[in-house]
Amino acid sequence: MDSRYWQEELETMPRKNLEALQLEKLKASVTRALKSPFYKEHFGSQGLSADSLQSVDDIQKFPFTCKDDLRDNWPFGLMSASVDDCVRMHCTSGTTGNPAAVLYNRHDLDSWANLVARSMWSTGARPNDIFQNMSGYGLFTGGLGFQNGAEKLGMLTIPAAAGNSKRQIYLMQAFGTTVAHSVPSYLGRLFAVFQEMGLDPHKDTKLKRFFIGAEPHSEETRLRIQEMFGVKAYNSFGMTEMNGPGVAFECEYQTGMHVWEDCYLIEIIDPDTLQRVPDGEWGEMVLTTLDREAMPIIRYRTHDLTRIIPGECACARTHKRFDRIKGRTDDMFIVKGCNIFPIQIERVLMNFPEIGTDYLIELTNEQGDDMTVKAELKPDLFTDNYPELESLKRKIAGILRDTILVTPKIQLVPHGSLPKTEGKAKRVLDLRKQ
Ligand code: AMP
Ligand code: ZN
Repeated sequence: MDSRYWQEELETMPRKNLEALQLEKLKASVTRALKSPFYKEHFGSQGLSADSLQSVDDIQKFPFTCKDDLRDNWPFGLMSASVDDCVRMHCTSGTTGNPAAVLYNRHDLDSWANLVARSMWSTGARPNDIFQNMSGYGLFTGGLGFQNGAEKLGMLTIPAAAGNSKRQIYLMQAFGTTVAHSVPSYLGRLFAVFQEMGLDPHKDTKLKRFFIGAEPHSEETRLRIQEMFGVKAYNSFGMTEMNGPGVAFECEYQTGMHVWEDCYLIEIIDPDTLQRVPDGEWGEMVLTTLDREAMPIIRYRTHDLTRIIPGECACARTHKRFDRIKGRTDDMFIVKGCNIFPIQIERVLMNFPEIGTDYLIELTNEQGDDMTVKAELKPDLFTDNYPELESLKRKIAGILRDTILVTPKIQLVPHGSLPKTEGKAKRVLDLRKQ
């Protein structure tokens, strides 16, 4: 078997050795970070350096780094290398104020591609697969990040980019695509176009695997995607500040995402007390890069809520797994005093076979605390004269009330009628006046 990206020694390293490797790489990362103007001040002013680290747990002596630190020091303030050494930049969308930019030197790009290749391999993808990347290219890391990883693995890679479903299907059929990557929210729409064209992905394509990520999604959504396309869909976690995709990925067992601990240090903290919580408990994920030269980032508060899954994985990898992201601390909204995450609503909706994959939560406060859940019906169901519509709405509202403790208004709308975005879906429209 060709085992280039089954990096067995690293992936199954005994925990003790892995922690020793982490300590060595953490010290090097802190030393490198101290070359940047930002960390010189952030750590240096407190007398913190690699000498402050006797064990990886000593990282807790260091202050966190936040998105605002990246924005305020845009674009070069966190750089530990000279711009001359760098060969690529990516940045977050930054709709308000400066985005957060990341710069990469050659080592960083190579290390990143290796992680993406290793991740894809762990799901069962092999060099003889045909890979179609249905992700936006450009500043968004899902395009070039997957492209470089897939090429490194050795797959024929189709840089299809996002949107244009008919062309996606045409390419899939012409080249016999077996593996594809996309944001999960796009796949319901792609499936509808298959149906419009009278095609069935099970019979009319060679698809076997999807990589889905970049946005929160529920297990119910994953199951739907698997059913619609006859594939296994693997959860892929990444973020620009940490390179992009390839930070953590589900292996073939689909039991949580292994975070590549030779390249990242993961901590879970209580977002209120900022103290670490034990494995198994939910909290905010904090990540530290261990293999980045141009721009190491130490103790980055991701705002993503997850937990470490205790126990070993059947695949023999020793790198910790974290659970499906349940939302971001900044995604949560409050209605009538109840804290709600969009994914809780998604889970309920996806259990109704009549409901399609797109929905929008609208919040207004003109008549008190009002919340409307708009959900698209499956393409073959009509909104007019559909006799079960009222009782379906009542059932959905009832289950939502039991789940989120608020009874929202339910609007069932025709397939394709909700606003679409290319890239990550926008699930909440907050029209409340302050
Ligand atoms: P970006 O840097 O724009 O790619 O966005 C990174 C953010 O996307 C993360 O902090 C998460 O909030 C979200 N994200 C990425 N991958 C996943 C995933 N597999 N599940 C849930 N959220 C994700
Ligand atoms: Zn595993």
